[in-house]
Amino acid sequence: MKPDVLIVGAGIIGAACADALSARGLRVTVVERDAVGSGATAAGMGHLVAMDDNAAELALSSHSLELWKELVDGQGQRHEYSRCGTIWVAADDEELEAARAKAVTMKAHGLECDVIGAQELYRLEPNLRPHLAGGLLVQGDGLVYPPKSARILLARAVARGASLVMGEVVALEDGAVVLADGSRLSAGQVVLAAGTRCLSLAPDLPLRPKKGHVMITDRYPGFIRHQLVELGYIKSAHASEGESVAFNLQPRPTGQVLIGSSRQFDTVDLAAEPSMMARMLARAVDYTPALAGLNVLRCWTGLRAATPDGLPLIGPDLSRRNVWLATGHEGLGITTSLATAELLAAQMAGGPAGIDSRPYLPSRFDAQGRAYG
Ligand SMILES: Cc1cc2nc3c(=O)[nH]c(=O)nc-3n(C[C@H](O)[C@H](O)[C@H](O)COP(=O)(O)OP(=O)(O)OC[C@H]3O[C@@H](n4cnc5c(N)ncnc54)[C@H](O)[C@@H]3O)c2cc1C
Repeated sequence: MKPDVLIVGAGIIGAACADALSARGLRVTVVERDAVGSGATAAGMGHLVAMDDNAAELALSSHSLELWKELVDGQGQRHEYSRCGTIWVAADDEELEAARAKAVTMKAHGLECDVIGAQELYRLEPNLRPHLAGGLLVQGDGLVYPPKSARILLARAVARGASLVMGEVVALEDGAVVLADGSRLSAGQVVLAAGTRCLSLAPDLPLRPKKGHVMITDRYPGFIRHQLVELGYIKSAHASEGESVAFNLQPRPTGQVLIGSSRQFDTVDLAAEPSMMARMLARAVDYTPALAGLNVLRCWTGLRAATPDGLPLIGPDLSRRNVWLATGHEGLGITTSLATAELLAAQMAGGPAGIDSRPYLPSRFDAQGRAYG
């Protein structure tokens, strides 16, 4: 019997959608070309973070954080979850003012956070460089190991009868997909959750790849205790051209330190670039000088799927019949995966969603990828 829904891609988004749709009683098939939880999901830092650059981003990220708390409740270890919190580090008084403004927005949204002065900053994170102004501590943020979470979500769907087909989708048809071996799989509806590779199946989508590098050190338990991000990260994350790096360190539950982050447009070459690594390390050492004495074990890269307005595409694809989109999550797709799946499932199968779906509908863009309004 053909499935109700065929999902292309078993990254965190496809896996979360499979979980949510199967929970609503739909028959789901997931097609994956590589491995469950590969693509950007394997490359991501796994920071679960409330982002407040606009109301829609804050609504999606903070609602998803609530869903993550329910998902990891009692089984944090399976996801390698840690509620480490985030400190947005303010280098000077101007950035501390920005931290205060951020705190007002986040508190108004019910998020637990505190502006901290320099003394508290160094008590919490003694390895930060001297003469910083303070920061904003957001207590509810955390981290997971994304490929593991993707596998757990997909396993839940499979336990409800969903199936996983290994293969590459090379073409979309109305109510079917064609695989690289020439076979066709029929389904009532198709969900595109293939990250940046959605573009090879639907080249007109308003998506651009944004490359990122991540490095990981040997084990140094306690070197840092919170995810540390410079307030300037927001500027870097929103650049729409060129290359940028920002200070972004994460304490893995293993005691390792993840070092981010870089952003580059107009390349899909996954090679790790020594020049970008050098820039990221210089930035990280500038904020945490003792990092210079740690061993970096490995560097890897991934491609974020970026939309023109920085919000994901969640809903019907107006250019293709019976096709739905769940992509375009840029650097926030691990965080926003669960809310994405809830919004998509509510649209496809009915039932409630915790937030308004309208800001994320693909119909906000015209056929040329330009935003309306
Ligand atoms: C360096 C970096 C750091 C990041 N850090 C964070 C972070 O700290 N916090 C956060 O929230 N987000 C982070 N992100 C963003 C996050 O990783 C992505 O938004 C998220 O993983 C996107 O998931 P996805 O399932 O849409 O895409 P992907 O993870 O790319 O998954 C797509 C899947 O589809 C499969 N696929 C593709 N094409 C086909 C096809 N034709 N047929 C069959 N299968 C196909 C792929 O093999 C893959 O498994 C980061 C991203 C990068 C690159």
